[in-house]
Amino acid sequence: MRLGLAVLCIMALAASASAAQVCQTQAVFAVAAHGGEFNHPLKEAPPLGVIKAALEKARGELKAGARSIDVVEEIVRTFEDSGAFNAGRGAVADQAGLVETDAAIMDGDGQRAGAVASMTRLKNPIVAARLVMDADRHVLMAGDRGQDYVVKLGAVAVPASYFIYSGKVTRKPVAMHDKHGTVGAVALDRCGHLAAATSTGGYDAKVPGRVGDSPLVGDGVYAADGVVALSGTGWGEYYIRYNVSKDVADRMRYGHQTLAAAMKADLFDVLKPLKADGGLIGVDAKGNVAVLYNAVGMLRGYATDREAPVVADYAGPSESAPRGK
Ligand code: ASP
Repeated sequence: MRLGLAVLCIMALAASASAAQVCQTQAVFAVAAHGGEFNHPLKEAPPLGVIKAALEKARGELKAGARSIDVVEEIVRTFEDSGAFNAGRGAVADQAGLVETDAAIMDGDGQRAGAVASMTRLKNPIVAARLVMDADRHVLMAGDRGQDYVVKLGAVAVPASYFIYSGKVTRKPVAMHDKHGTVGAVALDRCGHLAAATSTGGYDAKVPGRVGDSPLVGDGVYAADGVVALSGTGWGEYYIRYNVSKDVADRMRYGHQTLAAAMKADLFDVLKPLKADGGLIGVDAKGNVAVLYNAVGMLRGYATDREAPVVADYAGPSESAPRGK
């Protein structure tokens, strides 16, 4: 009996030690975040302060040994709560005036992933995606019954009135391609693990039930240790059809291209000729960061162990100081 108790105590201690895992095996770390690309000049002051504050916090946490998966979730959750972006509280409404959100998170450590799509009641879709990943049974939960499942896992449900654009279709539902945007984060931690997270309300006045690229692994989100972590924003249908984030990863993994070269190839050689606007943020296994877009601008920023956070909307910083391939 006593022996049994002692074994249980040791197991509990071991479990809590691994939950509080501190990453300090390497000095190098990096983090990047985006608040969506845009194809028309901005009418309002962009929330660059929110991005900068999130990066500052993330930088301190990564330096202290936080896991990249926790950092990307926290950044995206903060953006969802801010109401300043098309995600979470600020998600745009569909043709029927309902907010439907999509999100995904991916841990490069073991390529584990969790995602939710067409969620109408979730305060934080990215937290729900993480719960799906950690439940370790399925990857993507969709629609009302998927939503019931993630609420059972612990995701917080809110009334429709929580969402700023609930009931407000800001544009005539003619074609999909006006008010949009997405948030995302990528990080490399001091264990060398990569992670990515993406969350969106999709397109304003989208057809109810439409799902974009954001919750789809290999399209709007991707992370594989030793290679890259990526989060996308842009015309989701093209990101799905051309598997944009997996394509970038393949260019790096099999074509041995640098992160920036691989991202440029997809944004400018694949998407641009199709008139598909888009942006990507990424960090590679060495801690190189790139934040690039083929549109008018993209709300974005990054920080590394060597560089304090920088943020931009139009022209501005797009790559961290190179560390090599
Ligand atoms: N990619 C998102 C979607 O298609 C929208 C965006 O990033 O602007 O749902």
